[in-house]
Amino acid sequence: MDRHRVGGSAPAPALGADSREPGGRAAGSDAPGSNASTLGTEASPAGSDAPTPSTPATILDANALTLGLDVGGTTIKGEIADASGAILAAGTVPTPRGETAFAAMGDLGDSLLAELPADRRDRLGRAAVLLPGIVDTTRSIAVFSGNVGWRDVHVGDRFTRRWGVPVLIEHDVAVAGWAEWRFGAGRDHGDVLVIVLGTGVSGTLSVGGRLVRSAFGQAGEYGHIPVRPADGLPCPCGNVGCVETLASAAAIARNYARSSGREVSGAARVFGRLPDDPHAVRVVDDAVAALADGLLGIIHAACPELVVLGGGLAGAGAALSERLQAALEQRLRVVPVPKVVLGEFGARAGLAGATLFARHGALT
Ligand SMILES: [Zn+2]
Repeated sequence: MDRHRVGGSAPAPALGADSREPGGRAAGSDAPGSNASTLGTEASPAGSDAPTPSTPATILDANALTLGLDVGGTTIKGEIADASGAILAAGTVPTPRGETAFAAMGDLGDSLLAELPADRRDRLGRAAVLLPGIVDTTRSIAVFSGNVGWRDVHVGDRFTRRWGVPVLIEHDVAVAGWAEWRFGAGRDHGDVLVIVLGTGVSGTLSVGGRLVRSAFGQAGEYGHIPVRPADGLPCPCGNVGCVETLASAAAIARNYARSSGREVSGAARVFGRLPDDPHAVRVVDDAVAALADGLLGIIHAACPELVVLGGGLAGAGAALSERLQAALEQRLRVVPVPKVVLGEFGARAGLAGATLFARHGALT
């Protein structure tokens, strides 16, 4: 867990705060008194670190279109959607290393807009760009991404000037988790824990109908809760025995190879070897146990009704959700056991969330 969080002057974590990209990343920041969802929109002078003035979030009218970009470690995905969720243009480009990635984001947005007839292009109402790593939405700064390789990039109004509409920037996991909560498997529930399981482990927590953010801007770092501090594996964050060392997709594949002596191309292959391969059973059981142990404190503190499993690893389906349900039932005595369900957006939660976030204007 990186506590040096908000602000361009903060030191970057020792080894990739976004080692959890693209599957799991930090939830976002929301400085007190500000509305992060309106930040990064208009007119912070280029190079200035001054907070952008907040404006009330408004839901766009039904005629408006929204543009969403989801920036990952390997690709940038983009879509233009209408109010019904229909996708009018979509594209993917490789993510260039470093600050060049921001030029690629701009180019992708341009090319998607160019696909629309002129009368539709005029209906674009707002855009959202989801960034990995550490993002300071208050000052519109992409603070750090180990996977993409940028540090302290002032996003400012570069996209607003380019596309001619307000552009929100946010953390990818914050938006992906919000989308699963509000429009996916968690809809109609006020208290929902969303876990994004992928290269890393992170997520969101909604309590009483509100998404938990933080003054420090880094809520939802479930992957760096130490669960095996005495005898676990070292984590790139500097701690020992973090959830991610056992329960991320990368860890499951790595630990299977270590246990069996056989390399596998990914965690899905390990799940595919259940239930007959004892190495797969042990590695998956260890992963689920670590995840369940890591969630205990959160569940006791917040009593979520649902635990929603999102991200690439959720593709393992019932093999994962039923195991986690059983592990939680074994461990919880006092508080109600939350229901464990699979997310509905799958790996699309970020991108689908981006156009929804642009439409709603806030993670509310
Ligand atoms: Zn860690």
